[in-house]
Amino acid sequence: MPLPTSRRRFLQLAGGSLALAGSPLGAVASKPRPLAAFPTSNDPAPILLNFNECPYGPSPAAQQAARDSVAASGRYQFALAGELRDTFAHGERIDPALVRLYPGSSEPLNRAALLWTGPEAALVTADPTFETLGEMAAARGAAVHRIALREDGAHDVRAMVEAAARQPTGLIYVCNPNNPTGSITPRADLEWLLENKPAATRVLLDEAYLQYSEQASLAGEVGKRDDLIVLRTFSKLYGMAGLRLGVAIAPPGRLAELATLGDNPLPVPALAAGLASLRDPLLVAQRRLQNAQVRQATIAWLGKRGFASLPSEANCFMVDVGRDGAGLVAAMKAQGVVIGRSWPVWPQRVRITVGTDQDMAAFREAFSKVTGG
Ligand code: PLP
Repeated sequence: MPLPTSRRRFLQLAGGSLALAGSPLGAVASKPRPLAAFPTSNDPAPILLNFNECPYGPSPAAQQAARDSVAASGRYQFALAGELRDTFAHGERIDPALVRLYPGSSEPLNRAALLWTGPEAALVTADPTFETLGEMAAARGAAVHRIALREDGAHDVRAMVEAAARQPTGLIYVCNPNNPTGSITPRADLEWLLENKPAATRVLLDEAYLQYSEQASLAGEVGKRDDLIVLRTFSKLYGMAGLRLGVAIAPPGRLAELATLGDNPLPVPALAAGLASLRDPLLVAQRRLQNAQVRQATIAWLGKRGFASLPSEANCFMVDVGRDGAGLVAAMKAQGVVIGRSWPVWPQRVRITVGTDQDMAAFREAFSKVTGG
């Protein structure tokens, strides 16, 4: 007799790991099944250049620290979180009271949308940019004003301020370097934005990709004003996307507002890996250089074949493929190389995540086949 769906599902979840021997379920419990997302030995592993992940993963020291921390993960380890916050603040030369850790930077980003956008509080954002905030703000009934990037890929801060001044605006979102372009908004423009925006509007500055660039953080400005929130993540250069660790840097009053949406303790292996990453004196410089070399070589290779990209200082860039981007993405996937997507504003450009040298060799081979070049 077939098992009811809920029972089958339970057995799949339990796999062979529950001690079922002797129980009525023991007879039918199967071996653990590999998670669907992990390629099995029979599947050719696709090259993943789609989510701006770091192809090197957590550093060896971070991996070791995470492994060593598992046995202690039965407790919340709040002291470890405090040590990580203090170490991060020290590295940024900011007051630890301005720093709050989250399981990923998505969490404070989502909270910012919930707190500071709504029917009476618009969002001003760029186009194209990371879309989560715009989607959440729209779902909350906020007007979302998408301002085209400048030709050079920078945020058009003057147009953004004009848009923010037209109605009550809760938030201006700036991603620097920008996702998906990897392009930079110069510091002078960001300072102009802070000085000229409406007084009641907050600025959410997302520095998820900052470590890949040569730009300085604006975290040092947070202590001087009450309307700037800077986000950082361990998901990108530190290669910890699946471990979940992010940082909000904000004035104490703003951190307290973010905290009104609830507490969420941090995964202990992420804390341990994060601390090991911060303590590695060479990691950022090494990975930044490695990423820049592979990125620039790929952009140059594409350029020689007539496919232009905006200058990028991140681990992604957008290339103009001169044809329907979605079609090219599908054709690349058929070749085993999964690249990012197009944004509605630029249907002929696609986002490419910078992988390893080997990944990019596979990318070039697939791209040549698909474009006939
Ligand atoms: N901000 C930007 C610009 C991103 O590209 C991403 C992820 O891709 C995030 C925030 C969220 O990252 P996480 O929640 O992994 O820190």
